[in-house]
Amino acid sequence: MDNILITHDKLWDGAKEILRGSLPGHAFNTWFEPINPIAVTDEELILEVPSQFFFEWIETHYTGLIEKTLCEKLQANLRVKYTVSPDGGSASTDITGAPVIARPRPTHEPPQLNKRYTFTSFIEGNNNQFARAAGTSVAEEPGQPNYNPLVIYGGVGLGKTHLMHAIGNHLHQTKPDLRVICCTSEKFTMDFISAIQKSKTVEFSRKYRSAHVLLIDDIQFFQNKEQTQEQFFHTFNELYQAGRQIVLTADRYPGEMSGLQDRLLSRFKSGLAVDIQPPDFEVRVAILLEKAEQNGLSLPYEIVEFMATHIKNNIRELESTIIRILAHSSLTNREIDMAMVKQAVKDRLGKQFMSELTIEDIIGRVAEATNNREEDLVSASRKKPLVEARQVAIFLCREILGTPLVEIGLHFGGRDHTTILHACRNIKARSKKEPRIRQLVKKLRQELTFPLT
Ligand code: ADP
Ligand code: MG
Repeated sequence: MDNILITHDKLWDGAKEILRGSLPGHAFNTWFEPINPIAVTDEELILEVPSQFFFEWIETHYTGLIEKTLCEKLQANLRVKYTVSPDGGSASTDITGAPVIARPRPTHEPPQLNKRYTFTSFIEGNNNQFARAAGTSVAEEPGQPNYNPLVIYGGVGLGKTHLMHAIGNHLHQTKPDLRVICCTSEKFTMDFISAIQKSKTVEFSRKYRSAHVLLIDDIQFFQNKEQTQEQFFHTFNELYQAGRQIVLTADRYPGEMSGLQDRLLSRFKSGLAVDIQPPDFEVRVAILLEKAEQNGLSLPYEIVEFMATHIKNNIRELESTIIRILAHSSLTNREIDMAMVKQAVKDRLGKQFMSELTIEDIIGRVAEATNNREEDLVSASRKKPLVEARQVAIFLCREILGTPLVEIGLHFGGRDHTTILHACRNIKARSKKEPRIRQLVKKLRQELTFPLT
């Protein structure tokens, strides 16, 4: 690729679009939205990250993926280097020794909101009507006691994050003086840990407690994090008592969450909890048409219908299938036709496409093939053969179904997404080195999937 012609901004925008489609939304928002591209040379893309802690995380978890995306999807064979932002705490250290071009900092820090997530782009259906109405009400008049806190809950990829950011974006536009703080519970946790490490807990409290509107995404990640919960509880109380608006999202009804302190739970339950259900067929069609249009694509109805029939539970899947089709069409220079769409749907869903294969099916089959019990595979036991079988099952769920890490974690006894990622990588690496693992994975995969006819 001719790097002279492409700017670091364009390159990073391109990479981000692809990464957004291939990562769970919360991971994308936590780890990719805060990154600023700084410069590109013939060999390197330099990215600015907010803190040392952030650097360590992204370096260990995502560098490979970013470089692979740049190379395979954007034909940019570049190494990624990082620099920590000067206002990220630990001075302006350039970790990598790479040449870094200084950029002017914005004077007023905008809230970390995804600008695309607005009420206008949020398609209403009977699955999300109530949640949307509550969201609008909060966005128009934050702090009403009946709506405070507002908890939006529901399954993965159904629009919780979108709706929460829509509230933030609306407020940021209509009441720019209000301080809106928006982050995932992971980012909150990460900030808290890094504040402890740097003895900056006072600053941490001051930052979050200065919010007029606090939006926290995916609070299920607070489960079993006692100290963070404690911090959050105090922040919550202070804001609540001052009549500040709090909006939270969660993957299930707050009352059903385990590993949260009771007093925190009762706080969560004190306002309004609204759910988002999976979209029905009509809503899926509407969403597909809208997303296609946003991408400058006009799709014949039969194609839209085909996609809406097969991709049922997850709006993110609908979206990324469209992006995949677009990418495929432009890479191969072919018009979009039914065959291409079938292939894209199959790639996304694997055998699920043909027979509704579920995570439970995979767990059942792996348990049988490895002489384990299903309940042991999802238990906490760390016995060696069991761990291996469990990791194989996790790997297959990811490979065949493409299920987000977080969701797989939920099916495997509430494991953290990093554990799931570790399992996937481990099996991938072992099947390269160990013929026994390779055979096992291959055999199971063949049994669970078969080619599309
Ligand atoms: P969740 O937070 O529930 O996992 P997200 O809010 O990240 O889901 O939504 C996943 C993707 O689907 C996002 O790109 C979002 O814009 C899109 N999406 C979800 N619901 C809707 C909707 N009702 N209208 C338009 N797009 C939607
Ligand atoms: Mg989300």
